[in-house]
Order: sequence, then C-alpha cells, then structure tokens
Amino acid sequence: MASNELQRLWKLHQIDAGLAEVRARAAALSPGRELMAEVKRLEEQDETIGGAYRKLRAELTDLELAKKSAEDKIKATNDDLYSGRLVIAREAQDKQRELEMLTRQIEKAEHKIGQLRAQIVPAEKEANTITDQLTAKKKELAIGKKKALETRGELEARFAQLNELRPNAAKIVPPALLARYEVVRKSHGTGMALITKKQTCEGCGMSLPEKTIITAKDDKLVTCQSCHRILYFTAGLV
Ligand SMILES: [Zn+2]
Repeated sequence: MASNELQRLWKLHQIDAGLAEVRARAAALSPGRELMAEVKRLEEQDETIGGAYRKLRAELTDLELAKKSAEDKIKATNDDLYSGRLVIAREAQDKQRELEMLTRQIEKAEHKIGQLRAQIVPAEKEANTITDQLTAKKKELAIGKKKALETRGELEARFAQLNELRPNAAKIVPPALLARYEVVRKSHGTGMALITKKQTCEGCGMSLPEKTIITAKDDKLVTCQSCHRILYFTAGLV
C-alpha cells in the first residue's frame, strides 16, 4: 500500500481526473455536426430534384388547361356553325379553319402530355425518395440534439458534484505535496499516474526503472522521469 499521504493525494487526483474527463466530454459534445451537414445536403437535393419534379407537374397542368380551353373553343365554334345563325359562307370557312387549327393544337398538346406523364413517374419517385430521406435525417437530428442536451445536463451535474468534493479532498493533503502535484497537473492535465502491471507509467506509457518501482513500494514519493507525474501503486498491481 502507498502511504497515507499518497492515498489522500490519489483520491484528489481521481476527482481531478474526473473533472478533466467531464470537461473533455463536454467539449466534444456536438449536437450532430455531421447530421446537420447531411440534412443540409439533402435539403439542397430536395430543392433541385423536387424542383425539377414540380416544374414538370406545372408544365403538365398548363398543357392540360390549354387542351381543355381548345376543346371548349371547338365546342363553342361547332355550336356556332350548326346553330343556323351563320349564313355567310366566308365566315363559315373561317370557323372551319379555326377548328382545324384548334384540333392541331389539341393533338400537339396530347403528344406532349403523354411525354410529360412518362417523365413525371420516375421524377416523382425520385423526389419522394429524397423527401423521405430528409424527413428521416431531420428526425435523427432532433433525437441527437435532445440526447446531447441530456448528456450535457448529466455532465454538468457530475461536474458540480466533483467540484463540491474537491476542497475537502485537497485540504487533507500536505501543502508541499499538493503544491508539487498542482505544478504537474497544470502542465500535464493530470498530476498523478498509476504504475501498471507492466511497470510502466500509466500517464505517459514510459517504462519505469526497477529503482523507481522499489522506491514507490517503499512508500516514498517518486515521480516518473519522463512526465514528472507523481507515481502511485496499489497492492496487486505491482
Ligand atoms: Zn510518466
């Protein structure tokens, strides 16, 4: 077992390591930056592909309306022609020509309508696929944001809890030892490290000389020569 003083310092170190971990996790907490980019990409696609589909649909509606209007005109002209009101032959000829022109217009419109209908089927399918993907991603993002918010709440609670424990844990460590620990902690993030089973410093991974291990086992203060962290060993590890 390590000395009583070192055990106390180790407890403080665990609080500090916990605080550092919470800080790192909070900093890495992004509410789905990748998902947001994905949603933006799909929104752009939805606009292009959906836009192309909507354009085809508008074109079809226009043609159908034009066709309907030509059909109505034909009907009105026919009514005129056969109502018996028209007696002038020239006028009848004009009407006949108009009818032919309208019929040609309808034929053209029908041909184009057929083409558009064939184009619309795959365009609609494609547009719907993108819209569905976008809806799913937006939902995923909303869930991710909610989860990130929850995690943030948990981290804040843990941070407050550890911060509350810290002053008492620090108070019972001898000032000189605490000062030494703080110097390393401030420069390395953590001030203490375990001696692993492989006889390395857990903080930096350097292999520790036999002399260091013996000193540590002897309850004396010893630091890692590489990272200067105060070394700690527990029974069973070394
Ligand atoms: Zn080290």
